[in-house]
Amino acid sequence: MTEFAEAIAAGVSSEVLAAMPLPKTFRAAFVQQDEVDMFAGMASQDKDPRKSLHVEQVEFPEMAPDEVVVAVMASSINYNTVWSSIFEPIPTFEMLKRLGRSGRYWAKRHELPYHIVGSDGAGVIVRVGSAVRNWRVGDKVVIHCNYVDDQDPTGHDDSMLSYDQKIWGFESNFGGLADFTLVKANQLMPKPAHLSWEESAVNALCNSTSYRMLVSRNGASMKQGQTVLVWGATGGIGGYAVQYVLNGGGIPIGVVSSPDKVELLNELGCEAVIDRRAGDYKFWKDAHNQDESEWRRFGNDIRKQVGEDPDIVFEHPGRQTMGASVYVAKRGGIIMTCAATTGYMIEYDNRHLWMKLKSIKSSHFANYREAWDANKLIAKGKVQPVLSAVYPLESVGEATYVVHKNLHEGKVGILCQADAEGQGIDDPEFRDKVGEDRITLFRRHSEKLMAKRAEANQ
Ligand code: NAP
Repeated sequence: MTEFAEAIAAGVSSEVLAAMPLPKTFRAAFVQQDEVDMFAGMASQDKDPRKSLHVEQVEFPEMAPDEVVVAVMASSINYNTVWSSIFEPIPTFEMLKRLGRSGRYWAKRHELPYHIVGSDGAGVIVRVGSAVRNWRVGDKVVIHCNYVDDQDPTGHDDSMLSYDQKIWGFESNFGGLADFTLVKANQLMPKPAHLSWEESAVNALCNSTSYRMLVSRNGASMKQGQTVLVWGATGGIGGYAVQYVLNGGGIPIGVVSSPDKVELLNELGCEAVIDRRAGDYKFWKDAHNQDESEWRRFGNDIRKQVGEDPDIVFEHPGRQTMGASVYVAKRGGIIMTCAATTGYMIEYDNRHLWMKLKSIKSSHFANYREAWDANKLIAKGKVQPVLSAVYPLESVGEATYVVHKNLHEGKVGILCQADAEGQGIDDPEFRDKVGEDRITLFRRHSEKLMAKRAEANQ
């Protein structure tokens, strides 16, 4: 256990924490600029994050006046760490250069030959900058990844519209997959008291994204009774999306790729599920042509389950599914998109969009208010973490590989300064009230799945 982790576990005062000297270096997961060509010529699927992600000591950067230093207890793997680790679609060093070039005060620090990645974190504030007003050393926090300058006027309607908006730990350096991180005070939110460090750490990025896409007026503003098709419904953003649809009185139709995931969705309360592998939908006849009859077959399968077309399609796989998503949405429906995992050059039949008055609406992470409201729902036990597996920081490459290969469910957590799972629960009574079974559904399901896989391999 590190000195800071010991002090935090012992519950020392904020004065004691503030007086503890920060180390000159700390452990962090990073990619290296001199390795950006290491996978040249390989197919995306063959690029291996275990080769590109390093865990070593790095120098402690200087803290800006509007920042805090957080001792990170746990973090998580997001898909953006997959992108950083395979250097696609562009090496993230390009983004660090852009940030450095912005000429903003303190921005130059980020341009280093290594990029500390990670866009989630839960931990304890151990230093506050001179311009930080609402947070104190000793506060237990979770970190959201919207990295914006609150003195920039373009961000004051919706900070996601800020000209300089970035994602911390992806488009900025000093990310959360480390023992310490530096974040702006406007990225901080209170840690849910009934959750462990790793359960708290996995939510902010994906939970806030799904909240904006479905609940916020900046997204689809889902109404009671609406039907919502959720692609990747047991994945990172999908696992929260399904919960938002159920909480809001909607009817989710989850799409997944195995009977185990169907079972998990049913346990989560999602009755209408399509196993896309069993359905064997061939939306693309070949690399260039799509097959409308397959879109129709998929649409019919949705109608068989819920009796109507989806009001909203929660879209993120991108190229492979967008044609089908546009086709199956209800007349006047919305296709909410936030990503393109399978390819960003999208093709769909525009006749199905305009003749049926559908719209495609884009979304990207969440503003502070949306992230705060989404975090409040976690803290009040209304939305559960979808943590399914936990790795130590040293195994960050393996954990990222698992996400890259779609071998996981929900979210994969990473222990940083926490040296074991289950630490950091401050309100066990409330945890009991919410229900251990509900909080740990994804974890228990994943353990069952591992045991089954191990048995099959014997
Ligand atoms: P994830 O945990 O890997 O889940 C993605 C899910 O997509 C998988 O569980 C898989 O489910 C499904 N999928 C994969 N390939 C598919 C295909 N060919 N057809 C249909 N479904 C497919 O990732 P995530 O964290 O949910 O993120 C999903 C995407 O959203 C990523 O590209 C990520 O970068 C992006 N994202 C964007 C934002 C933003 O703010 N813009 C925020 C978070 C994430 P099944 O195999 O079970 O069908």
